[in-house]
Amino acid sequence: MITVLRLGHRKERDKRVTTHVGLVARAFGANQLLISTKDEALERTLNDVTDRFGGEFQVKTGVKWRKILKNWEGMIVHLTMYGEIIDDILPKIPKKENLMIVVGAEKVPGDVYKMAHFNIAVGNQPHSEVAALAVFLDRVLKGKGLQMDFQGKVRIIPSKKGKKVVEIE
Ligand code: SAM
Repeated sequence: MITVLRLGHRKERDKRVTTHVGLVARAFGANQLLISTKDEALERTLNDVTDRFGGEFQVKTGVKWRKILKNWEGMIVHLTMYGEIIDDILPKIPKKENLMIVVGAEKVPGDVYKMAHFNIAVGNQPHSEVAALAVFLDRVLKGKGLQMDFQGKVRIIPSKKGKKVVEIE
């Protein structure tokens, strides 16, 4: 079970990036997204994708994230450019455990660095929570997230040219 926690989401300013955090979380193999700020529009957008393209991805917004992190039964990793090098930490992450991945938007509160078992850098350069999450999920799942069959109502048939989409009744 893999959960992504998005901290510091600002409804108007971050709506596109947080949507992309959710889309990447789902498509790369996470099971749920928690967002610190209540945002029903965002929930609807992501649930609509899951409804059409399949899978059992869950979205909850307006969560009490400190309480969730304090009571988390499993490993917590925080993705930050200030962290330790991803390749050094990956072997220390147990395979079958409940994994929580925290990504920020605006400045991440200092206690998150302490609550996380590992602060992990996907390279020590500033870039994006979307990129950091994609690379981390792909590495931790060894590419298997991208091979999942989502059993959706809408399915894309991989094609050399053009777009092939089938709609399952
Ligand atoms: N200025 C913010 C701070 O100091 O926490 C970071 C803003 S950054 C655009 C948003 C998020 O992207 C970060 O909280 C982190 O989760 C992620 N991020 C950006 N660069 C990263 C990197 N090199 N490695 C891991 N995560 C990164």
